[in-house]
Amino acid sequence: MTKGFDVRASTQPADAAVRDTILANPGFGRHFSDHMAHVRWTVDGGWHGHEVRPYGPLMLDPAASVLHYAQEIFEGIKAYRHADGSVWTFRPEKNAARFRNSARRLALPELSDEDFIGSLKVLLAQDSAWVPTPASASDECSLYLRPFMIASEAFLGVRPSREVDYYVIASPVAAYFKGGIKPVSIWLSSHYNRAAAGGTGFAKCGGNYAGSLAAQSEATANGCDQVVFLDAAENKWVEELGGMNLFFVYKDGRLVTPRLTGTILEGVTRDSILTMATDLGLTPEERPISIDEWREGIASGEITEVFACGTAAVITPVGELASEDGRLDLTANAGDVAMRLRSQLLDLQYGRAEDTRGWMTRLA
Ligand SMILES: *Cc1c(COP(=O)(O)O)cnc(C)c1O
Repeated sequence: MTKGFDVRASTQPADAAVRDTILANPGFGRHFSDHMAHVRWTVDGGWHGHEVRPYGPLMLDPAASVLHYAQEIFEGIKAYRHADGSVWTFRPEKNAARFRNSARRLALPELSDEDFIGSLKVLLAQDSAWVPTPASASDECSLYLRPFMIASEAFLGVRPSREVDYYVIASPVAAYFKGGIKPVSIWLSSHYNRAAAGGTGFAKCGGNYAGSLAAQSEATANGCDQVVFLDAAENKWVEELGGMNLFFVYKDGRLVTPRLTGTILEGVTRDSILTMATDLGLTPEERPISIDEWREGIASGEITEVFACGTAAVITPVGELASEDGRLDLTANAGDVAMRLRSQLLDLQYGRAEDTRGWMTRLA
């Protein structure tokens, strides 16, 4: 057990039979494990009260600032069961560092690596039975971990909250796309932007997601799965999807992704792909890419593949780019490089390949 966390075990954990039924068909983000981790922060007391307690509703004052001013951040990371039964996670120090960056931007207190990674370990010490066991190498089940931090002070004035709570909850998940990987169609939003210079684009905060939902609804209304955002200043440069980063494969072997300018979320999957690219003989490149370069690259055959990436869906080929100007079919481009990177990443995460970079951390 990680030092410093008090454990109050649930007196009503799910029965093994109920849990097994859930684990056999978990869906995504609908079911939760028996416990949650919690750490409290106050201006005067700093971080304290480290605990694991039964999963359940929070008591929040209706005036809690998070409910009014959205002072909130979160993370998304998975726990994978390996063939020997052990449970591992992927590059948690990257998520811990990003959580601190997000905290600074949202004027929330920073949580140490020790508390961030420690909270995952103590929760898994209680709830490791909630990590599903893959039935085969193509079974992408895992326990999705959701650390988050909220401003809980009851105060309607506008200033950083003097009371904050950090929690981690856990949800068993199947593959993000049920029925196997199929290329996603994406809608190019012409009415909405996700982030602007000086804003919160690089922070993983709930507000960014709230702001992306109208654009996502527009995508859905146009028969698309996801929305892609351009930069807010010129409406010209490709940034990312609502919750995934984008990559472009060129026929000469370049692997291009938009450079981080403060308006793009620094994905752990994105960074891992840039690092692994050279193993597959690709040349990674971080630079601005315009929507015209994308369209022209597809037309000329310079761009051979486009894919999206993130923890939840891993790597997903993009099969269509649609906008008010028409629809561009990319299914002929959906493919090979994305799928090779995808297996390389999954083999590592599920312990089927050697962890030469020290990216895996054991949780249970
Ligand atoms: C979380 C997230 C990503 C993907 O990041 P990963 O660390 O790879 O999961 C990409 N874009 C946005 C907006 C996100 O919130």
